[in-house]
Amino acid sequence: MKDSILVINCGSSSLKFAILANSGQDTLMEGIADQLGSDTSSITFKHQGEKHQKNLTVGNHEFAVKEIKAWLDLHPDINNTLVGIGHRIVHGGETFNQSVLINQEVINGIQECASLAPLHSPAHLKGIDVSLALFPGLPQAAVFDTSFHQSLSKEQFLYPIPMDFYREHHFRKYGFHGTSYRYINQQLAQLSPNSDQQGVLVAHLGNGASTCAINKGKSSDTSMGITPLEGLMMGTRSGSLDPSLLTFIMKAKHLSAEEALDVLNKKSGLLGVSELSNDCRTLEDAMISGDERAKLALDMFAVRTAKYLVSTATTLESIDHLVFTGGIGENSNYLRQAICQQLRAFNIKLDDSLNNNAPRGAVSNIGAKDSHTQVWIIPTNEELMIALDTISLIQGL
Ligand code: ADP
Repeated sequence: MKDSILVINCGSSSLKFAILANSGQDTLMEGIADQLGSDTSSITFKHQGEKHQKNLTVGNHEFAVKEIKAWLDLHPDINNTLVGIGHRIVHGGETFNQSVLINQEVINGIQECASLAPLHSPAHLKGIDVSLALFPGLPQAAVFDTSFHQSLSKEQFLYPIPMDFYREHHFRKYGFHGTSYRYINQQLAQLSPNSDQQGVLVAHLGNGASTCAINKGKSSDTSMGITPLEGLMMGTRSGSLDPSLLTFIMKAKHLSAEEALDVLNKKSGLLGVSELSNDCRTLEDAMISGDERAKLALDMFAVRTAKYLVSTATTLESIDHLVFTGGIGENSNYLRQAICQQLRAFNIKLDDSLNNNAPRGAVSNIGAKDSHTQVWIIPTNEELMIALDTISLIQGL
């Protein structure tokens, strides 16, 4: 069937891509161009179970897209099924509350949001620009990480700082991981058809981590803010803390504001506390071998995740479902248990056996029989959501 979508995710120094077919259900090819901007950049294609890596002669987003086009030219069976391209865009500001087909006006809109995501937006714009040039006949869509959270009320999204920062500079909470939350929300609606009339809490726990409250199908609060630094403790990010700490760190280590922010973004979180790794699996192995700091880092992660779940839940009328997703949420029975232990006052309880034996990569319902809240593991799939949005926008043409 002719319904393949090329999904492009341009990060600041990487470009991930995938071709999804059969309404997004089959991944025909996927890959990553890595270490862009350095002279050791490479691109890897995974196709029919085999990996093929090559060095990039010029390590930038433009050449990475050119390599994808060259690969497609060598695989006409796949190339001929392509009907569109979906781009993941980190920041849509207040301009975009849903996915859109890309035209000049949309490009201008993404450009206007660039000051809010200075590392990502230039990469996204480059990716769009090159894709439009290399695939002139294909419709292309922009899918925003922020758009799902545009339903937050003013009380939730404003920071209690002088209002002119919002009026003149658009400084407010935007939230991220919206594509993942939208996907989870849709999956849950299939598993539990009433959920679109209920209160849902989602913990997206990966290297980046956040929580979201979904009230009757709409995001009502989320833990990340104007940037992904706010909220939970993460792999290398501190999450929320007393903002005055920034000036203490600057003074203690003679750092500029940017350097101190770098400490909070890249050297904190699981990595900073464990002094070992940002990777949950590595820390769990170390904890089992008796490493106290690894255990402390994991337990702090659990405590802080539980706090933000409760905080975002204040926008719900009832907590009917709690969903774990992301690499940690889907795979770490230790952290799921530790988080739910902190939520015992809310009568959110796991069934230990179901939690410990949950099948990898699959949906499971792991709540105890007497839990007030149903507890789920639902694997997320942001690429699929981007492909489905792109297909539905193309069908509306
Ligand atoms: P991101 O997309 O934000 O980069 P992922 O959602 O891929 O991150 O999640 C990565 C995290 O998931 C890492 O900390 C990794 O250790 C953790 N993870 C993956 N598999 C397991 C596992 N089996 N047990 C515990 N943690 C795991």
